[in-house]
Amino acid sequence: MSDLEKQDLKNKKVIVRVDLNVPLDDNDNVTDTTRIIACKETVDLILEKGGTCILISHLGRPKGKENKFSLKKIVDTVSSVLNQQVFFYEDCIGLGAQEAISELDQGSIILMENLRFYEEETQGDRVFAENLSKLGDIYVNDAFGTCHREHASTAVIAEYFENKKFAGKLLQKELEAINQIANNGKKPVLAILGGAKVSSKLSILYNLIKNVDKIIIGGGMAYTFIKAKGGQIGNSLVENDLITNAQEILSLAQSLDKKIILPVDTKASKDFDNNDQISTYNSKEIEDGWMGLDIGEKSMEMFNKEIQTSNTIFWNGPMGVFEKDLFSEGTRSICNSLREANEKGINIIVGGGDSIAALKKLGKEEWVGYISTGGGALLESLEGKTLPGVKALMQ
Ligand code: AMP
Repeated sequence: MSDLEKQDLKNKKVIVRVDLNVPLDDNDNVTDTTRIIACKETVDLILEKGGTCILISHLGRPKGKENKFSLKKIVDTVSSVLNQQVFFYEDCIGLGAQEAISELDQGSIILMENLRFYEEETQGDRVFAENLSKLGDIYVNDAFGTCHREHASTAVIAEYFENKKFAGKLLQKELEAINQIANNGKKPVLAILGGAKVSSKLSILYNLIKNVDKIIIGGGMAYTFIKAKGGQIGNSLVENDLITNAQEILSLAQSLDKKIILPVDTKASKDFDNNDQISTYNSKEIEDGWMGLDIGEKSMEMFNKEIQTSNTIFWNGPMGVFEKDLFSEGTRSICNSLREANEKGINIIVGGGDSIAALKKLGKEEWVGYISTGGGALLESLEGKTLPGVKALMQ
């Protein structure tokens, strides 16, 4: 992939596919500006090099032109985060849009209306993509969060920009982080996976076990593995149809001389909603009627040792039901261990919705080496897939 930094962008109209799919409250205030902040570096670079930025994005899942999903609502916030005036145009294709762009002074920024007002966007329609391509001279994709979709603005439009298509700064950083986890990270590489279900992370497990040195499995997904090893897990979360897969992953790890580390103790409750009775069990000996909802102290200590002796760490998914204070200690302890590791210069990458939510809830997000902006896109990359939006830039 060629480097955007080396390109001459002077007087060029640069179409930038960004991900401005930000959350809005009932009064249309943007409640989290992370995604706007994430595209600032690319926008600044283009402006510095004398280009004009034409921002294209989706917002929500509109069915046709629904005012509720108009990007106009966020223009002021985008302007204030980018610290530049941002113009808006009420469509994303057509002669009117092209004319509005041609009237801009060089070095301006314009945000076009929601791409998904056209169903052709999500259908990956060629004519729509070609119409979009008419907005500018150069195409930059900086919307990592949608790169796993084969949409017109991510995967198809690039065809119309031979030798003039580039990854933005955010996309470059995301790809580098994935490369660190799956190929090139300083060893030992540790993946910490948690969350509710094995099923959503099965392909990742099969892929990562080949590439990383050790995997900690916590959260609800650990119990399927503990059961697969013959443990008694009481009423803890389990996916019985995946026991065979879990056994296969465990023996694959053994044959590849990789470590899979499971919690040795578990904080359990009799009832998911009513937590009057709580007890700590050996994870292999949970009594019937009790469900494991967090890792115990011994596991926290054990996981901390693994963290401090790694050089690259990827974390996805909480260690327990972190939304409840009673069962947030395991996830908090991972956050604290990662912070200590970060202070020692260990490379840390965090990704996937709930680990970021946990970091935020526990107020720990400021120190992490790299927080990925992609949910599905990150997970699919870690399954070993080349994302359609990335592939399109390479062809
Ligand atoms: P995921 O979306 O797969 O990352 O799962 C995140 C969810 O897993 C969170 O809502 C947690 O509350 C939940 N979770 C974590 N550990 C457990 C557990 N031991 N039992 C049930 N749910 C859990």
